[in-house]
Amino acid sequence: MTPYQHLWRNGSPCTLPSGKAVCVGKNYADHIREMNSKAARQPVLFFKPRSALCSTQDTLEISHLSHLGELHHELEIALLIGTTLNRHSSELLNGVVGIGLGIDLTLRDVQAELKQEGLPWERAKAFDNSCVLSPFLQVEDGWQPDNLELTLWVNEVQRQHSNSQLMLTPIADLLHEIVQVVTLEPGDVVLTGTPAGVGPLRAGDNLRGALNQDILFDKLRIE
Ligand code: ZN
Repeated sequence: MTPYQHLWRNGSPCTLPSGKAVCVGKNYADHIREMNSKAARQPVLFFKPRSALCSTQDTLEISHLSHLGELHHELEIALLIGTTLNRHSSELLNGVVGIGLGIDLTLRDVQAELKQEGLPWERAKAFDNSCVLSPFLQVEDGWQPDNLELTLWVNEVQRQHSNSQLMLTPIADLLHEIVQVVTLEPGDVVLTGTPAGVGPLRAGDNLRGALNQDILFDKLRIE
């Protein structure tokens, strides 16, 4: 498989390098409920390395993971970072150059075990190809992340559907929280948390994802 490169919605490659993914947990109340979990007192942050990034435009191979239990989809709004953002930066939203969708692939049984033992989540969250990214829509300075609707269909059945308005920590505040901890660099992505409806993927599944009315990926084949 060719190395991952960020893509724009029109299919052209993006000149930004591919970087790390900063991911947010527990950002929608309905997902916290479905996990029988408790709200966090501050945004939950975790990371996926550059080697985890792959594209919704390629077939997603999961068969080598099948002995590890259930592999869940988590559809999330993804932000593509265009300029360095750190704790001294202002106008953080203007550092975002693209918005798209990401699937935070999660080995749910592995994660449950790690959680129970109080261990870090990397084995469940940061493995190769665990961060599946759609092409990005370009945004201009001054954009506002209000009212972004995300939808995932698996085999034509709608599995996840929500709106950025339902985030417990909205996008601008998430960026502020993140840069207090870690510098965001050009080509990094931020995954902003998943709403309810997560569930297992199986070989043969076909996925479609939409951001507002825009279908950003279709016929993503799981093998
Ligand atoms: Zn997630």
